[in-house]
Amino acid sequence: MLQVKNMSFGYHKKPILKNIDFQVDKGEHLSVIGESGSGKSTLLKLLYGEMDVHEGSIFWKDTQILGPKHNLIVGYDFMKYVAQEFDLMPFITVAENIGKHLSNFYPEKKRKRIKELLEVVELTEFSNIKVKFLSGGQKQRVALARALANQPEILLLDEPFSHIDNFKKRSLRRKLFHYLKANNIACIVASHDHEDVLPYADRMLVLNKANIVANHTPEHLYKHPKTPLIASFFGEFNVIDGKIVYAHQLKIVDQSNLKATVKKSYFKGASYMIEADLNGNSIFIENEEPIEINKEIYLITKQTQP
Ligand code: ADP
Ligand code: MG
Repeated sequence: MLQVKNMSFGYHKKPILKNIDFQVDKGEHLSVIGESGSGKSTLLKLLYGEMDVHEGSIFWKDTQILGPKHNLIVGYDFMKYVAQEFDLMPFITVAENIGKHLSNFYPEKKRKRIKELLEVVELTEFSNIKVKFLSGGQKQRVALARALANQPEILLLDEPFSHIDNFKKRSLRRKLFHYLKANNIACIVASHDHEDVLPYADRMLVLNKANIVANHTPEHLYKHPKTPLIASFFGEFNVIDGKIVYAHQLKIVDQSNLKATVKKSYFKGASYMIEADLNGNSIFIENEEPIEINKEIYLITKQTQP
């Protein structure tokens, strides 16, 4: 449905994306991850037609997405984009912002639609508040609801929960991604948080050094991280004998040929992260209990999934 072919782009000759190829099907959820500065936002802006690609093409079904050189008005009805810096109208209410692009022709239908969207982003009680009085996270939720208002076919979200605190984030994320699936709306979500990705994304695309270095299901990439970069996205990990081993895959046993000395225990909630010295390097082990400093421990690698 979305077809990106051989796309390249750079700012002032500095290449940011090189020969990018991927596609997104109807209703599919694609996560785009990569370090800060890897080009996630640039990619979304190109997909939206906010800038001109230097090479290659972008199609949504039969419509070619064109940048400002070839298309006077940026944007298409079937595609909505919520930027990292969202712009709302501060002097009108939350409900008015959300309904901004909804037709006034059927006021009852419009009212119902706004009500439904307020529920998705959990802002019902703020409906009549002017946007200028909202917090950053609340504004981000208004921007999301406004993007959904006219039921796009594809939604581009740039770090959509970055301003939203942990108290609200989980339920909002569940509601939003559930809403998108239920309505068969494709989405491309730039993110640096694995909790946005693992439970929800159908596929994840990893950007590094202007290239796509992985494009697979989150489960596959989690279980078979090809590089430390990919593993680091998911959590604490070690490289032991050239193999990537997550902290939770190390187990403390009575005796083994992997001996380490405990340096510190960090409380993590459900478990402790033990930092230990292994031949002069720090390694990390997830353990149910803290361990006293300088204690010698023996480790084995738990069976990894095939
Ligand atoms: P990400 O969203 O992954 O953090 P960006 O797409 O924002 O990355 O940026 C990718 C690279 O392009 C960075 O090195 C950034 O400094 C550079 N960049 C972003 N926007 C511009 C711009 N308007 N002009 C010049 N360089 C830019
Ligand atoms: Mg960005």
